Amino acid sequence: MIKDSIEEIEKRVSDACSRAGRDRSEVTLIAVSKTKPVSMINEAYEEGIRDFGENHVQELQEKMPAMKPDCRWHMIGHLQRNKCKYIVGKVKMIHSVDSLRLAEQIDSDSKKAGVISEILIEVNIARESSKFGLLNEEVLELVRDISKLSNVHINGLMTVAPYTCDAETNRAYFRGLRQLSVDIGKQNIDNVSMNVLSMGMTGDFEIAIEEGATHVRVGTGIFGGR
Ligand SMILES: *Cc1c(COP(=O)(O)O)cnc(C)c1O
Repeated sequence: MIKDSIEEIEKRVSDACSRAGRDRSEVTLIAVSKTKPVSMINEAYEEGIRDFGENHVQELQEKMPAMKPDCRWHMIGHLQRNKCKYIVGKVKMIHSVDSLRLAEQIDSDSKKAGVISEILIEVNIARESSKFGLLNEEVLELVRDISKLSNVHINGLMTVAPYTCDAETNRAYFRGLRQLSVDIGKQNIDNVSMNVLSMGMTGDFEIAIEEGATHVRVGTGIFGGR
């Protein structure tokens, strides 16, 4: 039952916040609904969930109009430039920006739509060859370049940590992302804030919260396996 899963995840989120001396309101639980039908997303909505994560533009296009307008949609998957126009102005935040070219496309589509798009920079914190995202040492330069675009606003950083059976092994990566965001924040770059740290999934969200996550992305733990 989705209701029971959400209750359990909520409890674990609250407990992790307590352990870390953080207020529950500092952490947004994003229910990752990719591949799941609108009927299931509605069940989560009924339990009070408003933030949903998807990784394909086409699925977003199908699901957004089918759900209540107060849902907040997060694009968390790799984004192709020719598809930006379909989601700009409609999603709350794009978590997966990893190049200047993509940011420029989002900027120009945002201008046309008359909006400013909230984005995160995706960091490949564990330097896995299979993953999207920038290497640590590339992030600051990209942030500086993107900061000059008028219709995108960088809110912070996102990472997809390695898949692991022992979540503790990801603690150092989450700590590393947090440190990077602090370092970039200290540069006081115009049009850049480092308020958001999107990290932690079903297997490791509690550790991520202990290490400063503001947004956790939980799919399997809420909706079951895919
Ligand atoms: C699928 C996905 C998630 C959720 O993964 P679970 O392990 O099912 O919680 C989180 N973030 C991204 C980027 C994803 O693609």
